[in-house]
Amino acid sequence: MYVLSMHSILQQFIDIVFPKHCISCEEEGSFLCNNCFKQIKKFKNPVMKHPPNPFKKVIIPCPYHKNPILSKAVHRMKYSYYKDISKDLARLLTDALKEVKLPRNTHLVPIPLHRKRENFRGFNQSELLAFNINFPVVNLLTRSKETQIQANLKRSDRLKNLQNAFTINPHIENLPKTTPLLLIDDICTTFTTVTQAAKVLQKNGYDVLLTGALALA
Ligand SMILES: [Zn+2]
Repeated sequence: MYVLSMHSILQQFIDIVFPKHCISCEEEGSFLCNNCFKQIKKFKNPVMKHPPNPFKKVIIPCPYHKNPILSKAVHRMKYSYYKDISKDLARLLTDALKEVKLPRNTHLVPIPLHRKRENFRGFNQSELLAFNINFPVVNLLTRSKETQIQANLKRSDRLKNLQNAFTINPHIENLPKTTPLLLIDDICTTFTTVTQAAKVLQKNGYDVLLTGALALA
């Protein structure tokens, strides 16, 4: 509790000395003002009509390209340590998830980063998004292999890059295998990452049928 309250006092101090400005219009008050948030382009239907195997449902609220406010927000979240933007971005996913009737005991499984990359960045952006969505989060996967950034690779090399990349987190015990799991990724490009992650979970007897991402690139 002490640490928490110290943290919030420190946060208030930071907010006074360095007021937040909207990353798009620079209005003071938050990193993403309501006006700009509303301008983020969304798909008419966030639920994909033809989900790729092995998923029963894929939920993605936004296109990534030609969506300048969103891509700027994602970039800031990932590379400039504006972690608070994740709260606004998670709202997009939360709204999209309302289109699907998720079982109440659904758990969110963030796509992990390799420990080295997470240590360097200080956080995992998929986990940050997941923690701001109103479902329990379980870090069921770990990234055992230091992979290259998928976006920098040719399509044919992406699968190879991710082979054996994920393993089950040995520290997670007692999660019933029948718990409905929803994988959470930030930007989905070819579904290679989420598919590899789902396969590892399924091989271990888990029931992973759903995946969600903030945006489709
Ligand atoms: Zn704005």
